[in-house]
Amino acid sequence: MKVIRGTIVSEGEGGVYGERMLNGCRVWDPHRSKFPAAILNGAPLDLSSDMRVLYLGAANGTTVSHVADYVETVYAVEFAPRPMQDLIEVARRRLNLVPIMGDANRPEVYGCFVEAVDMIYQDVAQPNQADILRKNLPFLKKGGIAILMLKARSVDVRRPSEEIAEETRMSLREMGLTITWSGTLDPFHKDHTCMLCVKEA
Ligand code: SAM
Repeated sequence: MKVIRGTIVSEGEGGVYGERMLNGCRVWDPHRSKFPAAILNGAPLDLSSDMRVLYLGAANGTTVSHVADYVETVYAVEFAPRPMQDLIEVARRRLNLVPIMGDANRPEVYGCFVEAVDMIYQDVAQPNQADILRKNLPFLKKGGIAILMLKARSVDVRRPSEEIAEETRMSLREMGLTITWSGTLDPFHKDHTCMLCVKEA
């Protein structure tokens, strides 16, 4: 990752969400995006120009636009029409960003548009977050990385976040994933746990 004076940045066109520029680079705001928040909290995350990424829950393209600045191709899945309009605008200026209007629960519908990927990044804030990841794992290459941004309150508002996080980690292991790092996104994003996994087989 490119870091200037302790600030995570990416090199690309500005103007996606009013981000600041630093030495001609786009500041990747950890308060607006969970990816740099996880890095600042110690997650050993990296992106490179030969990577293909499947991004589930792209919203209006805030985080996706930074990921696209780093990698070869991002397949960005979003099911809500309004953020999808913004995402299409972001993709107009980034030819390596493929916006896909689809439900991440139904990978069989958009599978024909997606190649095998090196990373799955999921940020969907749904009750069945682990199950959505499981359904999309066939796209991930052996040795590839799955990043789950778990929002515990979307799973169950009444149960403690750590209990839901532990249950989710068990589900990920049952899917054959090895969890290499897990941590909260405090103080940047409340009630979120980032789980970094490797698909071993
Ligand atoms: N990742 C985004 C970012 O950092 O810029 C923010 C994502 S926001 C927390 C969650 C998004 O996931 C919403 O835009 C929502 O519409 C989308 N989403 C939720 N469930 C989905 C599903 N089953 N399929 C596709 N998108 C979904």
